Amino acid sequence: MTKVLIIGAGHAGGTVAALLRQYGHEGPIVLAGAELAPPYQRPPLSKAWLKGEADLEDLLLRPGSFYVEQDIDLRLGATATAIDRTARTVTFADGTTEGYDALILATGSTARKLTLPGADRADLLELRTLADAERLRAALGPGKRLAVVGGGYVGLEAAASARALGADVIVIERMDRVLARVASETLSTFFTHQHRARGVEILTSAEVTGFEDAGVRLADGRLIAADVVLVGVGALASDDLARAAGLECGDGIVVDETARTSDPAIFAIGDATNRPVPVHGGRRHRLESVPNALEQAKQAAAAIVGRAPPTPEAPWFWSDQYDLKLQIAGLPDGADRQVVRGDPAAGTFAVFHLTGDRIVCVEAVNAAPEFMAGRQMIVSGAPVDAEKLADLGVTMKALAAV
Ligand code: FAD
Repeated sequence: MTKVLIIGAGHAGGTVAALLRQYGHEGPIVLAGAELAPPYQRPPLSKAWLKGEADLEDLLLRPGSFYVEQDIDLRLGATATAIDRTARTVTFADGTTEGYDALILATGSTARKLTLPGADRADLLELRTLADAERLRAALGPGKRLAVVGGGYVGLEAAASARALGADVIVIERMDRVLARVASETLSTFFTHQHRARGVEILTSAEVTGFEDAGVRLADGRLIAADVVLVGVGALASDDLARAAGLECGDGIVVDETARTSDPAIFAIGDATNRPVPVHGGRRHRLESVPNALEQAKQAAAAIVGRAPPTPEAPWFWSDQYDLKLQIAGLPDGADRQVVRGDPAAGTFAVFHLTGDRIVCVEAVNAAPEFMAGRQMIVSGAPVDAEKLADLGVTMKALAAV
């Protein structure tokens, strides 16, 4: 019977273990993760959990009893340190080794560190794990001043949650707009206004040069006073195990449409991977999202049990800030124009990115029909009339039915 060893018990690792059983895999499954909590969801760490609206039970992917019932050997606090591809074994930090027939690397990503004076201070916070979130939540409260370095999704979500906890917040972004790497200008402008309207100070084109007792030092000499500093400047693939084992890596562990690495006995899934996206012409991307982790978990589980591969999906992502639900589907690279449907000032709108007459990406704010239909049209490749797309008088259902 095939023995499956999964390294990394996060969203992707926890999901693939459950799917293997669901798909009928009867052999041994070992799920080993470095963290001490059973597989949990990270999205609430910057949202509901940080605001105190969710507890640990709400975060868990499945209750602890699930792994016992499903005969999944869950090992927590177990950090893998090396893969021997010839012997088909993995060594752990405590010196033990575990064999495998199929190995799945689900090692996720780690918060990117800044190499600036003071960046190694123990009081600088990041937000990747439950332990990070516990430190952040304990440091926040009414009257505290939080400086967030980096205006990406995690930083902005943490800013919104910190406001809900009564903290003062300043976001420091080096680019000329927040969300510069990951969203359209329309969206950046919208979220900047929303945060400012709720009392968050946003500094753009602001270069941080160091961290001091009293706060954050900027290149123009200013000191931004802060009680708490959160650094949210992106994440890097945790691909060191794979690299050391000689697996092909680029920006992440290189895998194919079935989540297989350059070694046929080893799969990789989730944030750690660099994968082709069939819906976008097979172009390679490293995606950091729960839907991506779930899709690749399905691919790997299907390949291991010999089941037909899942239908390719359009990549998608969401972010919650205040009462705003942002949903994004598709990838905007290669788009030649944008169509805005709805009115950002009204708080309900969508930005469609088109290549010719095809939708390749939709960014929808409090606009579920636009998101749903847009996602469907990205996959189908159905042509769309840009004028009608901008016309709220034409329903998304009617546009998608063309
Ligand atoms: P992870 O969930 O990070 O799990 C990887 C696990 O592998 C970790 O537990 C790690 O400790 C373990 N590991 C690493 N190396 C080893 C090793 N050598 N040995 C053993 N274990 C190891 N996505 C969305 O789609 N929507 C959101 O709103 C959203 N919000 C987010 C908010 C925050 C604060 C964060 C941090 C992420 C958010 N994400 C969101 C991203 C999403 O959580 C990730 O894409 C998802 O968790 C990826 O799953 P994964 O299993 O690949 O990685």
